[in-house]
Amino acid sequence: MTTLTLADWQQRARDLHIEGRAFIQGQYRPAAAGEVFDCISPVDGRQLAQVASCDAADAEQAVASARAAFDSGVWSRLAPARRKAVLVRFAALIEAHREELALLETLDMGKPISDALAVDIPAAARAIRWSGEAIDKVYDEVAATPEDQLGLVTREPVGVVAAIVPWNFPLLMACWKLGPALATGNSVILKPSEKSPLTAIRVAQLALEAGIPAGVLNVLPGYGHSVGKALALHMDVDTLVFTGSTRVAKQLMVYAGESNMKRVWLEAGGKSPNIVFADAPDLAAAAEAAASAIAYNQGEVCTAGSRLLVERSIRERFLPMVVEALGRWKPGNPLDPATNVGALVDNGQLETVLGYIKAGTDAGAKVLLGGRRALQETGGIFVEPTIFDGVDNAMKIAREEIFGPVLSVITFDSAEEAVAIANDTPYGLAAAVWTADLSRAHRTARALRAGSVWVNQYDGGDMTAPFGGFKQSGNGRDKSLHAFDKYTELKATWIKL
Ligand code: NAD
Repeated sequence: MTTLTLADWQQRARDLHIEGRAFIQGQYRPAAAGEVFDCISPVDGRQLAQVASCDAADAEQAVASARAAFDSGVWSRLAPARRKAVLVRFAALIEAHREELALLETLDMGKPISDALAVDIPAAARAIRWSGEAIDKVYDEVAATPEDQLGLVTREPVGVVAAIVPWNFPLLMACWKLGPALATGNSVILKPSEKSPLTAIRVAQLALEAGIPAGVLNVLPGYGHSVGKALALHMDVDTLVFTGSTRVAKQLMVYAGESNMKRVWLEAGGKSPNIVFADAPDLAAAAEAAASAIAYNQGEVCTAGSRLLVERSIRERFLPMVVEALGRWKPGNPLDPATNVGALVDNGQLETVLGYIKAGTDAGAKVLLGGRRALQETGGIFVEPTIFDGVDNAMKIAREEIFGPVLSVITFDSAEEAVAIANDTPYGLAAAVWTADLSRAHRTARALRAGSVWVNQYDGGDMTAPFGGFKQSGNGRDKSLHAFDKYTELKATWIKL
């Protein structure tokens, strides 16, 4: 545990050296065109650094470097146990730099420092270590052939992987890709969000230090429409893995179709239902979970429990409990270890969230809590956690992903109605159900069209289980051994005996 205070973190922020260059072929370099963009902290509006704004020319260099490294076999043909050893070292280096990385994450995208320290950085290290440790324990297959044949079913690394990631859990989302991609022997080009490039740039150096050869991991900061698009259209990128919005995910499928039919794996948005039945075993726990499900990480969570479905008979008792619980989530200085709600990532996101709050009010939903911008005098970008009651599932605030701390409460009368409302969404990332009835829990879990379902909790998960979405929440899965599928091709080799 850390005992650092707000003043300690502020001092460290002042002393921090921030690297803003791209990382290609084992070296930091400016963008080929010399372009940069300003990296502004949502904590206080301060400029943190100027960051290389990469474009197609940088993508060209990084792909060439990744391809050469892949073809050389320096990593792709290394014994799995040796790749494991390097990845375990990489994870240990991330842990050893936990405070520096957490500080970069908080300054860059506004999340509370205590969350960056306790969740983001340890989970990022775990993703790398878990994938590394697994890779020398998975076996290929021998097919059930006739006597005169030997059929081998083997997995091979797919080649050059481009990973395009978002800003809400910048390093963690990157490591969910880097772990299995590197463990299986691929070369990777990581493109962090232009809103949160700093930790990705920093860990490239740690990867090199751990023993990942030059060219195997490249990091290209820059805009999606520039370097992101160039990677997605590149003829020599074999696989594109993505976490981000459904809108961009769809565009990436088009780019793949317009170029080399690269494999495209997408982790996209959500509008997750959290269903509380009258027989929930512990309504106080359900209220606490409903609050953290929408306030954690300022609601900038793909699995945010943004639709709270409440059975009519407990509404009057349960809603005040949720209001009280969410009332304890208060925006504050993200560098203060006591803060549980940090800053939104930027002014654009603030406008989006305030726009949805207005849309909710205009549609006739009733604000039970919050609804306004907060702490404007700090120069930071904060919004109050907000609850809307009287929401109809057809309203814009119930249909679209807000990606801010705005909760919609919808009332239902029967289990069938609850499931119908829960599934009436283009998304299918996650869902939760609260009930003491074992059969109802299983029946509801089965009926929910979502990649993760939680029973009597919200947001369980670990590297041991796959994570990803149904419907327009994406395809393929991050985490667990299933993630290796995205980074390998299956080969059948037939030997005549
Ligand atoms: P975004 O789609 O705007 O951006 C994601 C990444 O795509 C960024 O790096 C961006 O630069 C890049 N990009 C944008 N346009 C591009 C283009 N034309 N070509 C190539 N790349 C392009 O998403 P965001 O705002 O950064 O992140 C929030 C979204 O991420 C939310 O929808 C959230 O639900 C989703 N998300 C999903 C998961 C999951 O695992 N399913 C996890 C976290 C976040």
